[in-house]
Amino acid sequence: MPIDFLYPEYEVVRNADRCIACRVCERQCANEVHFYDPENKRMMSDESKCVNCHRCVSLCPTRALKIVKTDHTFKENASWSGTNIAEIYRQAGSGGVLLSSMGNPKQYPIYWDHILINASQVTNPSIDPLREPMETKVFLGAKPSKIQRDDAGRLVNNLPPGLELQVPVMFSAMSYGSISYNAHESLARAATALGTFYNTGEGGLHEDFYQYGPHTIVQVASGRFGVHKAYLEAGAAIEIKMGQGAKPGIGGHLPGAKIVGDISKTRMIPEGSDAISPAPHHDIYSIEDLRQLVFSLKEATEYKKPVIVKIAAVHNVAAIASGIARSGADIIAIDGFRGGTGAAPTRIRDNVGIPIELALASVDERLRQEGIRNHVSLVIGGSIRNSADIVKAIALGADAVYIATSALLALGCHLCRNCHSGKCNWGIATQRPELVRRLNPDVGCQRLINLVTAWNHEIKEMMGGMGINSIEALRGNRLMLRGVGLNEKELEILGIKHAGE
Ligand code: SF4
Ligand code: SF4
Repeated sequence: MPIDFLYPEYEVVRNADRCIACRVCERQCANEVHFYDPENKRMMSDESKCVNCHRCVSLCPTRALKIVKTDHTFKENASWSGTNIAEIYRQAGSGGVLLSSMGNPKQYPIYWDHILINASQVTNPSIDPLREPMETKVFLGAKPSKIQRDDAGRLVNNLPPGLELQVPVMFSAMSYGSISYNAHESLARAATALGTFYNTGEGGLHEDFYQYGPHTIVQVASGRFGVHKAYLEAGAAIEIKMGQGAKPGIGGHLPGAKIVGDISKTRMIPEGSDAISPAPHHDIYSIEDLRQLVFSLKEATEYKKPVIVKIAAVHNVAAIASGIARSGADIIAIDGFRGGTGAAPTRIRDNVGIPIELALASVDERLRQEGIRNHVSLVIGGSIRNSADIVKAIALGADAVYIATSALLALGCHLCRNCHSGKCNWGIATQRPELVRRLNPDVGCQRLINLVTAWNHEIKEMMGGMGINSIEALRGNRLMLRGVGLNEKELEILGIKHAGE
């Protein structure tokens, strides 16, 4: 037997006095960590299979379990961390590309945590959001550059169609296939109740979810899975996915093992066949080509739907966004390098792209300089963790944000980063019926509504503190932000002053 150089990352600590051998942990763990030893009449663990998803810890009736990070270490040094060494062993064993789930975990700067928000004192008094009206409604799409009136003095409104959001938050693209039916249902129902939108991702729209069409963004990605006229017509907006923050520059791959039943039907590909989205759209090699697709989609839907173009945040994002704004797109979505994914090559996820904070600030600035900021709305995602991140994003120039990892956490995700295994113990990133059933859509929907409602209250409180009573007045208002611990270049790109200035 070949030697396995890897030592388990986690240890299962079972309190023998508390464990009653009920075997709940054994039944709950799809990774088969726990098992019963009949000879010794006690529970045992195979820790090499543990991904630290906490399902067993949460459901153990006697609180007998905890999972700890092992203190066994490789002989590390500054250059060779335990992770680097373990990855070499893994690749030397498999000969394959390393795969990872969820967003970039590396120690790059998180600019949200270096930005502070202003508050009114003495002059320009703050506003009490409990007693005074506070507007967090957002309209996405082209805005007028100036007020136009006809000969009779009436306002001329010939704007293309847009999206109306009751809260400045939408659920980002996650395909049916990468996440479960029950997760999709939770997102669709919550978006409807909140007056916002969820996004099909590139997996098509399950027939059961057409009823949520007015709160659905339907995506058109390079694989064109599940794209047909009724699909385009079902959504409130159409999103062309050019890139994704977790894996800029490469395509997607949902293994054939996951293309079963309704997933194969919804994607319109045979059961068992791999769903491979090519890296580029094979009909788009320029802004002119993109423009053709934007207008093809508008034409197909009789110019009734706004079109979003989604890109990953990369080095020259401002120039790319400028081109997209001229392509006829109504909304640009930018996904930062911390954005989540069901599966991505680890090297790409951890090394490609740029932080969304810098991308957003430079895109907003560039569009303003070119006088085309009002031609499009900006939606950003890829690391929004709380309501303060949203306020900072809007003050840096975003119209609204996309959330995905936060939404999955609300559904019960424990960030075990094992989505690509298809064995999500929380019923989210899985298609196994016995696991999918663990996520109750009624509960999931309510938890999403609670999260976004709570954030919306907090946004109003922060706006009130600044003496601002509408999102529109906060958008791009960088005077409300100050940096801490940032260098001159970072402050310049973010377009904010240092704290104390
Ligand atoms: S769920 Fe808890 S009490 Fe039940 S067997 Fe597992 S560790 Fe023991
Ligand atoms: S969705 Fe499931 S598998 Fe993925 S990180 Fe969350 S708990 Fe783990």
